[in-house]
Amino acid sequence: MADSYWLEEPGPKLVSKPLSGRADVEIVGAGTTGCSAARTLAEAGLRVRVHDARTVAGGASGRNGGFALRGGAMAYDRAREWLGAEEARGYWALTERYLERLAGAVGDALRPVGSLRLAADEEERDELRREYEALREDGFDAEWREPLQAPLGRRFPAAMFHPPDASVQPARMTRRLAARAIEAGVEIVERHRVESLDELEAERVLVATDGYPSGLLGQLEGLIIPTRGQMIATEPVPEPLFPYPHYGRHGFDYWQQVKDGRILAGGFRDADMTTEFTAEEQTTPTIQRALEDFLVELVGRPLEVTQRWAGIFGLVLDFLPVVGAVPGDGRLWVSGGYSGHGNVLAFMCGDMVAKAMLGKQVPELQLFDPARLLTPA
Ligand SMILES: Cc1cc2nc3c(=O)[nH]c(=O)nc-3n(C[C@H](O)[C@H](O)[C@H](O)COP(=O)(O)OP(=O)(O)OC[C@H]3O[C@@H](n4cnc5c(N)ncnc54)[C@H](O)[C@@H]3O)c2cc1C
Repeated sequence: MADSYWLEEPGPKLVSKPLSGRADVEIVGAGTTGCSAARTLAEAGLRVRVHDARTVAGGASGRNGGFALRGGAMAYDRAREWLGAEEARGYWALTERYLERLAGAVGDALRPVGSLRLAADEEERDELRREYEALREDGFDAEWREPLQAPLGRRFPAAMFHPPDASVQPARMTRRLAARAIEAGVEIVERHRVESLDELEAERVLVATDGYPSGLLGQLEGLIIPTRGQMIATEPVPEPLFPYPHYGRHGFDYWQQVKDGRILAGGFRDADMTTEFTAEEQTTPTIQRALEDFLVELVGRPLEVTQRWAGIFGLVLDFLPVVGAVPGDGRLWVSGGYSGHGNVLAFMCGDMVAKAMLGKQVPELQLFDPARLLTPA
C-alpha cells in the first residue's frame, strides 16, 4: 500500500521508554485518538502503553484530507432535528473548544484558515442555506458566499465559509500528539498487531482503531463500518487557487492546496459506492480517474499526479462517534466511528474517553454511548 503525501514528510524520531511496571491502561491504535487519550491518562499519573500494527499516524490519521472542522459529521440543521436544539448546540460548541485546544497542542501542523463548504447545484444550495441560517441563529460564526469567483463559479452556485475551521498536516499533527504523550511517560510499541485481548496485561484496554477492524471489539465489531477513502496529490501548481479546505456535494468531494502548491483531492466514493465499504487500503482505477477528471475540470488543465493513496475510516449509521465503556465488558473501552470527520473528533473523543476512564463525569459522552448501537431504538 502506498504512503500518503503527508506520511512522506520525515517525522521526528519518536522513542519512548518501556514502562517500569505493569501498564494501567493499554491502547490499541496510535492515531489521533490513541495519542490524545494516552497523553491525558499519562498526565493524570497512569502507566500507559500504546500498540499499533503499523506506526504512529500510519492509519487514517496520516492519510486523510487534512480538514480540521468544527461540528459533527452531519449538517448542523440536521443535528438540531436529530439530537435536539440544546444537544446540537452543545456538541458544536464543544468541538469548537477542542479545535482551539488542538491548535495550541500541535503548532504549525495546523493552519487556522477556515474552510469552504460548496453547493454543487441549486438543491444543495438551499440545503446549505438552511444550515447557514441554523448556525447563525444559534450564534455560530459562518459567512454566506454567492456568487463565487473563478475557478469555483463555473461549477458551484454558492458556498458557506466556516471561519473557525483549519487545515492540518495530519501526520505531523498526530506525531506531535505522540511526542507529547511520550513526554508524559507513555510507551508506544509500533509494528505490533494485538491479536487478542489475552496478550495485554492492563486492567483496562482502549480500542482506538476507528475504521480499521481490530478484531477486539466483540459484539461492537462491524457496527463501526470500515469505509475506504481515496486521495491524490498533484504536481505543484504555481497560482494560489484553494487557500483553505474546500468540500462539496455533501462532503463527497474535498480538496485543498498545500504550501508547496500541490492540490490534494479526495472523495468520489459514490463513483463506485459498492466497492468502497471495505477495509482494503488500496486505490482503484475508477475512483482515481474520477478524482483526476474532477481536477482537470476544476483547474482547466491536466495536472501530473504524484501520489495516490487510500485510507479507511469508520462510518456509523447515526453519524455520531462511538465512545465509552463497551457494554457487558468491565475491561474494554472504545473510541472511534467519526464517520469521516475525525481530525477534531478523534482528538476530542480521545481526551474525553480518557477522562471517563479516570472516573471523571463526562456528561457530553452520553450522546456517543456505544450501548445505543446494541439496543433496538
Ligand atoms: C481518505 C480519508 C480522508 C479523510 N479526511 C478527513 C478530513 O479531511 N477531516 C477529518 O476530520 N477526518 C477525515 N478523515 C477521517 C479521519 O482521518 C479519521 O476519522 C481519524 O484519523 C481517525 O483517527 P484514529 O486515531 O481514531 O484512527 P486511525 O488513525 O485510523 O488509527 C487506527 C490505528 O489502529 C491500528 N490498528 C488497528 N487494529 C489494530 C490491532 N489489532 N493492533 C494494533 N493496531 C491496530 C491501525 O494500524 C491504525 O494505525 C478521513 C479519512 C480518510 C480515510
